[in-house]
Amino acid sequence: MREASRRDFLLAAAGLPVLAASSRVMEAAAQAPPLRPTPSCPGSASPTERQTEGPYFKPDSPLRASLLEPGMTGTKIVVTGMVLSTTCQPVARALLDVWHADDRGAYDTSGFRLRGHQFTDDQGRYRLETIVPGIYVGRTRHFHVKVQAPGKRVLTTQLYFPGEAGNARDGLYERSLEMRLAKGEGTFDFVVEA
Ligand code: FE
Repeated sequence: MREASRRDFLLAAAGLPVLAASSRVMEAAAQAPPLRPTPSCPGSASPTERQTEGPYFKPDSPLRASLLEPGMTGTKIVVTGMVLSTTCQPVARALLDVWHADDRGAYDTSGFRLRGHQFTDDQGRYRLETIVPGIYVGRTRHFHVKVQAPGKRVLTTQLYFPGEAGNARDGLYERSLEMRLAKGEGTFDFVVEA
């Protein structure tokens, strides 16, 4: 069986929907060479690269791990990972504040749609439920994130999707900020000064 059809079969066998948009992204990801582990734990790791917060950040986002709301359109995605220190220790109660465009590439600037913050658990883990952001002029697909170990400096960055045609055309895009993407789930570990 070809790899793509085998994967679709496995998804179908697991009772999971094969989502058009995300399966296209995943096929591209499956063909890409394996990513360098990010971070290079166990051992030590460099802090996650900082990026501009852009024009759409708003403070005081609601506390919530799911940004999904009734009637919201788009492809659901779960993003999980850890917040680690530069010595690869899990950072508990780290702040993770996420904001991103809707499936048509628009930010909610009047309210808090697709904006929310959460804290990592005792093992430094987070789990975000949201939709795949749409793209807007000049940018490839991305999430905006602020991460902060308790009492430490805020790290502002962005997360990218593997296999996006727009990645190569976006001057902000960084390979080290790509999530791994499989079966509709993204993973990314952040490294912060803790
Ligand atoms: Fe943006």
